[in-house]
Amino acid sequence: MSKASLAPVFAPAEPMSAKIDALPISYQPSATTLDPDNWSDLRRQAHRMMDDMFDHLETLPDQPVWQCAPTEARETMTAPLPIDGTDLASAHAIFKEAILPYGGGNLHSGFMGWVQGAGTPVGMVAEMLAAGLNANLGGRDHMAIVVEQQITAWMRELFWFPAEADGLFLTGASQANFVALLIARTRVHAASRSEGTAFGPRLVAYTSDAVHGCVPRAMEMAGLGTASLRRVATNKAGQIDLSALRLQIRIDRAEGLTPFLLVGTAGAVNSGAFDDLGKLADIAAEHDLHFHVDGALGALGILSDEIRPLLAGIDRADSLAFDFHKWGHVPYDAGFLLVRNGAWQRATFASDAAYLTRAETGLAAGDWWPCDSGPDLSRGFRALKTWFTLKTYGLRALGDAMNANCALARALADRIAADPDLELLAPVSLNIVCFGYAPQGRGEDRTINRRIIERLHAAGRVAPSLTMIDGKPAIRAAFVNHRSTMSDVDALVEGVLAFGAADDAHN
Ligand SMILES: *Cc1c(COP(=O)(O)O)cnc(C)c1O
Repeated sequence: MSKASLAPVFAPAEPMSAKIDALPISYQPSATTLDPDNWSDLRRQAHRMMDDMFDHLETLPDQPVWQCAPTEARETMTAPLPIDGTDLASAHAIFKEAILPYGGGNLHSGFMGWVQGAGTPVGMVAEMLAAGLNANLGGRDHMAIVVEQQITAWMRELFWFPAEADGLFLTGASQANFVALLIARTRVHAASRSEGTAFGPRLVAYTSDAVHGCVPRAMEMAGLGTASLRRVATNKAGQIDLSALRLQIRIDRAEGLTPFLLVGTAGAVNSGAFDDLGKLADIAAEHDLHFHVDGALGALGILSDEIRPLLAGIDRADSLAFDFHKWGHVPYDAGFLLVRNGAWQRATFASDAAYLTRAETGLAAGDWWPCDSGPDLSRGFRALKTWFTLKTYGLRALGDAMNANCALARALADRIAADPDLELLAPVSLNIVCFGYAPQGRGEDRTINRRIIERLHAAGRVAPSLTMIDGKPAIRAAFVNHRSTMSDVDALVEGVLAFGAADDAHN
């Protein structure tokens, strides 16, 4: 390399060393730890913070589902680097003024937009305990790891997976789907770990056109590319068309490609549809494909008598991704991946690093190190808030809350059917209703639905979301919140009718 190439291309206006000297940071080693000198002051303040949060949860019905954060609130987050600290009470005051009132709405009973969990007070305090422990679940021999294994054992039982099945927490179903894809890839092409995929078999995966966007993205991230994902057409019920799927697999095989993965959906994001998982398991077995189920929302429907029949065949999946943070109401984030054979996970992720050397006994012992089974080394204790949620509420209550959500969806569909000014725009499956404002003589222009939704959000009583049905705007109400009741359905219908009529009068 020539000497000249080592010269900086752009001379900084001010040398970095001068900038660093100018920072008023003291490099004197601190005489103390980050713990308080006075624990009783901290206790008082911390109890106040917890009580305030319970107050917030207790008074949700008196609050708007959403309100736009004003400039003053946003400006609190353009502050200079905090070189010197502030006391906890002052920082908490900023939280109360500028952060707490301007949430994303998903705690509130009027939240029907998108599919989001509502959280629980139990989950909240469990999260505090987990943070107190500050456990790192990459591995080693400590009880937090055993708690995560307890969740895996429960999920194995719940989904009738075999004894050699394993699993782990990930941030969400997006990551769980990605990790499953990597496992499927390594199963068919073990050398891909060292050689990549460029020179191996041309791998192709199959799913339906109702697939969640994270699956094509997983293909991109895995280096396989979205062109290698076949998005097979869906039938009227929103399920993957089985004969089209079979045909596509045959065509690809005939062209010398290597079909390796079939992704079924349990609870499609737009329509709530469930693929026929039993049939998909048959096809996967017949064609030697890894059968993965994206059950982000729907898999936990196994807790509901109403939804369970739609999941027939889920026990035959090779891997299953789902979210405790959606219909399970565990606080964000808590995604999970269950894998039929834990050896497939280790074959995909385990590696030997000297600093992770295992011991027979002592802290470095333990026969399950999650860092061997997934992409993360340092991992938080997501298992604890999940354990507390399942343990204290019980599966029955969680399932009942799902049934209640489905009943609200049916009640809304009935109100729509009975009202000449409203139209149902898609069959109601489970908990999702897509509809629009459509009095006689309005014609086919559905753009009014978009305006109605924005006005509903601004009014702050209910928050449905916008979706497109046949390319035209529709109002989408997804009932996931355990706090929602019939009064929220009433408020939605009344709000749509009132804003719709006002819009009509205005135009
Ligand atoms: C929400 C969802 C995902 C993504 O899950 P995250 O937890 O948000 O990463 C994937 N698939 C479906 C069907 C979903 O509903």
